[in-house]
Amino acid sequence: MSFLIFSEDRELAYQLLGKARELAEETGVEVSALAAGPEPMEYVRQGADKVYTVDGLAGFSVEPYAAAVVETVKAADPSTVFMGATKRGKELAPRVASMLGVGCMNDCSGVELEEGELVVERLTYGGSTVAREKSTSTPTVMSFPPRCFEKLEPTERSGEVVELKVELPEPSVIVLERREKPKSSADLDSASIIVSAGRGFKAEEDLRLLEEVAEMLGAQMGCSRPISADLGWMDQWVGISGKKVKPRLYVACGVSGTIQHVAGIRDSQIIVSINSDEGAGIHGVSDYSLVGDIYEVLPALTKALRERA
Ligand SMILES: Cc1cc2nc3c(=O)[nH]c(=O)nc-3n(C[C@H](O)[C@H](O)[C@H](O)COP(=O)(O)OP(=O)(O)OC[C@H]3O[C@@H](n4cnc5c(N)ncnc54)[C@H](O)[C@@H]3O)c2cc1C
Repeated sequence: MSFLIFSEDRELAYQLLGKARELAEETGVEVSALAAGPEPMEYVRQGADKVYTVDGLAGFSVEPYAAAVVETVKAADPSTVFMGATKRGKELAPRVASMLGVGCMNDCSGVELEEGELVVERLTYGGSTVAREKSTSTPTVMSFPPRCFEKLEPTERSGEVVELKVELPEPSVIVLERREKPKSSADLDSASIIVSAGRGFKAEEDLRLLEEVAEMLGAQMGCSRPISADLGWMDQWVGISGKKVKPRLYVACGVSGTIQHVAGIRDSQIIVSINSDEGAGIHGVSDYSLVGDIYEVLPALTKALRERA
C-alpha cells in the first residue's frame, strides 16, 4: 500500500496529505504528491515523503493535467491516488482512472482503514443515505472535497523531489476569455457564516432584510436553487446541484429544507432555521428552529445585533 496525492488546489492537497499521513502512520507506507506550482518542498513539510514535479503545467486544462497525473502514478506506483474533488478535480479524477483502466470513487466524504483495506463513504440519493464503498482495482482513484480532512502543522522533515519529464498533450479546449465574477458572488466555499434565502422571500428587494443580518454577522449570503436558478436573484445556490458548504453557522431563512438543499448543508457545524411553517423539513435538520415570519424575525434580529454591537 502507498498513497499519491494531487489537487490543483494546494490547500486541498495539504488536507489530503494530512489524511494520507495519518493512514500512513498506521500502515508505515510511503506518501507521495504531485506538486501544483512552485515550492515542492512545502509538500514535504505538509507530510509527503516524495514530491514529483512536472514542467509545463500552467493554468488548468484537463488533458495535460490528466497526462501528468497518469505519468506520476506510473512513476510512484501507489495503491491509492487521493485527488481533490473541486469542480476541476471531479472532471480530472475519472479521466485519470479511465486512462489507467482502474476504478474511481468520486466526491467521497471520508475514508478509513478497515482490516487493511481503505473504505470510503459517499453521500447517495441526494444525501439521504451514506454508501460505504471499497475498490476492487489497484491502483484506485478517490476524490474528496475541501475540508473533509485537516492539514497538518508544517514541520521540517526530510523528503525527496523528483522531476518527471512528461510530454503534455495540447488541451482540446482553449479559454478565449476570463471575466471576473460579479461582486455579489459570495465565497461560499470558505465562508464561516452563511445566511441563506429561500422562497419565503416574496420579492428580490426583500433580500435587503437578509443583507442587513449578513452585514451584522459578517456572513456570506447563499440561497436555495429557485432563488438563483429560477428567479435569478443571486448567482449561486446551496445544495446538491449547487455549492456544498461547511460553515460554522448556517442560517436558513424561508427555506423549506428539501433533500436537495439539505445535502449541501449537512456538514455545517450549527444550522438555524427560520420558517413560518412548524412542519417544514428544515426544522428537522436544524440545531435551533425558529417558527416565525422572516419579515418579522429578520428585522428584529438586525435590531438586536445592532444593539449588541
Ligand atoms: C435534480 C434537482 C436538483 C436540485 N438541487 C437543488 C439544490 O442544489 N439546492 C436547492 O436549494 N434546491 C435544489 N432543488 C430544488 C428543491 O427540490 C426545492 O424545490 C428547493 O430547494 C425549494 O426551495 P425553497 O426551500 O426556497 O422553496 P420552497 O420549497 O417553496 O419553500 C419555501 C419555504 O418558505 C417558508 N415561508 C414562506 N413564507 C415565509 C415567511 N414569510 N417566513 C418564514 N418562512 C416562510 C415556507 O413555509 C416554505 O417552507 C433541486 C431539484 C432537483 C429536481
